[in-house]
Amino acid sequence: MIPGARLILLGRQGAGKGTQCVRLSRHFVVPHISTGDMLRAAVREGTPLGTMAKEVMDAGGLVGDEIMVGIVAERLAKPDAVGRGYILDGFPRTVPQANGLDDITADRPIDAVLDLDVPRELVLQRISARRVCRDCGTNYVAGGVDKEPWICDVCGGDVTQRDDDTPEAVSRRLDLYEEQTAPLIEYYERQGRLIVVDGVASTDEVFRRLTAAVSYTHLTLPTSYSVEISVVAVP
Ligand code: AMP
Repeated sequence: MIPGARLILLGRQGAGKGTQCVRLSRHFVVPHISTGDMLRAAVREGTPLGTMAKEVMDAGGLVGDEIMVGIVAERLAKPDAVGRGYILDGFPRTVPQANGLDDITADRPIDAVLDLDVPRELVLQRISARRVCRDCGTNYVAGGVDKEPWICDVCGGDVTQRDDDTPEAVSRRLDLYEEQTAPLIEYYERQGRLIVVDGVASTDEVFRRLTAAVSYTHLTLPTSYSVEISVVAVP
């Protein structure tokens, strides 16, 4: 049996969290829980939450802590997350959200917090080239010659620039990251759960670094997962 994992991926917008979370969720067979994706789904469905969140998101602001903690508590109580764990992407984003998460996970604490470190100048370049499928959320990089919208290779949906990837909204989000989210690095360092991973490398190399970091925590931290070790014959 593949051991599960309870992970948080921190990092600036455009650091590659979305892409890496998809790979990590397949690798550990855990759900990828992205609060940004959950809010975008609510916007598409036109729910009261979506209507409220759209305005905040388009301006590059943050949705209220209490609402976000409530949404995540509900999601983490589902059987897949309880049974296998999860990878959290985009949450927590503030210290009050991290406090809320500590309460939610008191019985089954987080294994590791991975900080995917990519400098601000580089993420700005990446975000301006970022395109995303409106339907399934797959990320693409614009090459400057493609006619938009493209058709998504994964689901056939329209691939366009995100409504909140305008230069003003991006700059506001990056400022908010420094103000509200960067303090979480120290928060989790104090809890002894933080691992900083240099995110300036190819997608494959960053993935290798992230999985190596998680293996390290699985080896060194006591975990409550049941792990079946299969003996493999080595030639
Ligand atoms: P993301 O896809 O993670 O960049 O999230 C897109 C937008 O959704 C953010 O700019 C926020 O407006 C909102 N959002 C996502 N996650 C959170 C969160 N944990 N707390 C507050 N707002 C959030």
